[in-house]
Amino acid sequence: MRLSQSLIPTLKETPSDAQIVSHRLMLRAGLIRQMASGIYAWLPAGHRVLSKIAQIVREEQDAVGAQEMLMPTIQSADLWRESGRYDAYGKEMLRITDRHERELLYGPTNEEMITVLVRDSIKSYRDLPQLPYHIQWKFRDEVRPRFGVLRGREFLMKDAYSFDLDYAGALIAYKKMMLAYMRTFQRMGITAIPMRADTGQIGGDLSHEFHVLAPTGESGVFYDASFEAGNAMAATDVEAFYQQMTTIYAATDEKHDTALWDQIPAERRREGRGIEVGQIFYFGKKYSEAMSFAVTGPDGQKIFPEMGSYGIGVSRLVGAIIEARHDDAGIIWPDAVAPFRAAILNLRQGDAATDGICETLHHQLGADGLYDDRDERAGAKFAEADLMGHPWQIIVGPRGAANGQVELKRRATGERFELAVQDALSKVLG
Ligand code: ATP
Ligand code: MG
Repeated sequence: MRLSQSLIPTLKETPSDAQIVSHRLMLRAGLIRQMASGIYAWLPAGHRVLSKIAQIVREEQDAVGAQEMLMPTIQSADLWRESGRYDAYGKEMLRITDRHERELLYGPTNEEMITVLVRDSIKSYRDLPQLPYHIQWKFRDEVRPRFGVLRGREFLMKDAYSFDLDYAGALIAYKKMMLAYMRTFQRMGITAIPMRADTGQIGGDLSHEFHVLAPTGESGVFYDASFEAGNAMAATDVEAFYQQMTTIYAATDEKHDTALWDQIPAERRREGRGIEVGQIFYFGKKYSEAMSFAVTGPDGQKIFPEMGSYGIGVSRLVGAIIEARHDDAGIIWPDAVAPFRAAILNLRQGDAATDGICETLHHQLGADGLYDDRDERAGAKFAEADLMGHPWQIIVGPRGAANGQVELKRRATGERFELAVQDALSKVLG
């Protein structure tokens, strides 16, 4: 993409209404704009990040056997009356009346809808287990939308739902999801710690929240320093992995257990703040019983499926990653989610040698290259590239260009390399 023709409205000044760094940087880097309180438009660069995050989530869900589908954003109030949650949900639910006076709502989550869908689609125990998911917008009329996309009213969530014949099956689904989540966050270049958590609105008795550590996090968290080492991912077998994840101590303040905490050697105890980027729940037959969903068992008896639900805050992750990865100059995107892998900075627009090399690079990088072809000072181009946080900057100046050389800068480390054009390309694409 050519910066001169793109809709990436970066800002020089820090927006005064944004309280935390990720919100400020998302506005300044031209990723989002607020359209109403807690409701954001995703501009092209922001949309690219959101899509890359969604794609990683999708691949890791698929890898543990979940099936993607798509449910609507608007739901019927009657669905929620069946489970008894229509009144219980309160003011966070955006309620809508259509022209025929039918009561609708913008879905804050989908337990009811998926339960009815699976109920009406299968009959026998042989049709279980089921593990459907979708990536869809949700709406929660938060009292205090704030921190940009970290706490919006409209937000993108991946939600998966498991249906199993018995507790043992449900637990397998739960463990597979934990593994999928840890792989998902690792691929995004962030550390998220699975913490014992309260079940809240959803109900049930087993739950973990996944927290990205950041001083701006809304939750107080307690965890064993072993999670910082990053070696927590050693196991590949689901069972061994789950044992490992759940024997190392980590809990949100609601679930903090001081007796267990005291058994951890003092030098390994960490207290901090976390941003909740995902949560998984096992809640048994709560919805299957309330919504009369039973399958016929081997002996003709009725079996109410054991259920769980599994959410990831896809749009919140964009902010959470920036909270974890930035410096004074701007965003430091991990390679896997960066809007563009590299920016091409032409330091002398109109010079035959620099223009020629930049066009070649732009062509070869395709959609992963952002070509700063504006008639701007070098300093302005450097500052903007640092702000936008591209993992690589390919700097093309007239002196190097005359010898077919460019300078390559790694955003995360500040390392610089003088390279021939093709070598720079291989390094960026490698
Ligand atoms: P919170 O405690 O932060 O309000 P929640 O526990 O109510 O979130 P869940 O029902 O667990 O949220 O939803 C699954 C995921 O969706 C959360 O882990 C979070 O990442 C994301 N999420 C929830 N609410 C919001 C929001 N208002 N804005 C952005 N993402 C959200
Ligand atoms: Mg939650």
